[in-house]
Amino acid sequence: MDILITNARYAVTSNEKNEILENVSIGITDGKISYIGTDTPSAKKVYDAAGKLIAPGLINSHTHLGMTLLRGWSEGVNLQGFLELVWAAEGAIMDEATCELGTELGALEALLSGTTTTMDMYLNPVATHRGAVRVGLRHIAGPIFFDFPGLDGLQWEQRIERAHQWKDELAKIGGPYIPTYLMPHSTYTDSPENLTQVAQIAKEIGARIHLHVSETEAENTDVAQRYSKTPTEVCRDTGILDVPTIFGHGVHLSDSDMKIASSKGASVGHCPGSNLKLGSGLARFNDMRKAGIAVGLGTDSCASSNDLDMFSVMRMAAHVVALRQSPADVDLTSIVRAATIEAARAVGLADRVGSIEVGKEADLIAIDLQAAHLTPVHNVNALLVFAAGRGDVTDVWVAGDQVVDNRTSTKIDLAGLIKRVNERVKALDPLR
Ligand SMILES: [Zn+2]
Repeated sequence: MDILITNARYAVTSNEKNEILENVSIGITDGKISYIGTDTPSAKKVYDAAGKLIAPGLINSHTHLGMTLLRGWSEGVNLQGFLELVWAAEGAIMDEATCELGTELGALEALLSGTTTTMDMYLNPVATHRGAVRVGLRHIAGPIFFDFPGLDGLQWEQRIERAHQWKDELAKIGGPYIPTYLMPHSTYTDSPENLTQVAQIAKEIGARIHLHVSETEAENTDVAQRYSKTPTEVCRDTGILDVPTIFGHGVHLSDSDMKIASSKGASVGHCPGSNLKLGSGLARFNDMRKAGIAVGLGTDSCASSNDLDMFSVMRMAAHVVALRQSPADVDLTSIVRAATIEAARAVGLADRVGSIEVGKEADLIAIDLQAAHLTPVHNVNALLVFAAGRGDVTDVWVAGDQVVDNRTSTKIDLAGLIKRVNERVKALDPLR
């Protein structure tokens, strides 16, 4: 055994029975969980978790990490106003090196906040993936597709070429295991013909798909005017849903859309923070789950929700249910699962991460409970959703590799990164 995490006050397993274990030890061998119990088998390294809660690493199922450089850039606007401000800023600075820098920053923020996996859609995925892997994150990226040449300057044919090269690029970079993804932006930026082509490539190379679907009512109206269909119907009719697909947002899915998504095995990355801030609407979290859809939680980008804090996202997800329905409809276990095992299901990693079970990869976080705001503990899930915060996360492991030690990255120097970021964003000054 390589590591034994001993004497944890609690372990929130997110296993099938939603067990919360007490006074428990967790062993890690070759990056995987090899022991859960109350004995103390010998190990090369012992981590004393007295007074701590161990949980599965949180999974952010929809984000754009490179945009962390635009935190606070666009305030007081809806999605349309947001896109105008952000696209101008991106045009000014987002070359390949800058995308990598922004993703390094986002990956570090995520890990220090207890998030071990992110579903990231952004320009220059080779560069972003390199940056995130350097910091130690399980970073799901993929080639992106728009009908028009984007800021990356790629023509459609080049995007297709990149998609075919993606698996080789991933192998070159290495890092924790991720599924292969293709990421067409949405049904309002990609024509049905082009989406059909992306779906075909996904089938050929065994990739999954991540795209924005029904984030706002305006998007639904726009797509209906063009095609007399909902975005979900466009996905179905172009073959996108013939491969496992995750919808970013899914705020305005109709009952019929949910039925389609459920029957096709599509999942949703629910981003309550971004949806509340941009006034996009209140997603129907419980209805989607009842329809049989795997719903994970996500932050969206730091340009629209200002941070990558999955603890605040859990809290907002619960508040949205209380507001749309009633406090009695808030099932706290379902909220914790949406940040762990259900998010793992949503992104296609449920066989590897998202729960504390023997055989799973050891993506784990330690939360220090020795704090005034975490005392007493009457209900562990309520503690996680409503009281704990990312500052309580002390240590983080990804595939058994300790990437955060006592609130500090073991991979990169924070002060140096902050300096590089502040230097680079000076290029935005003329746009202010
Ligand atoms: Zn998004």
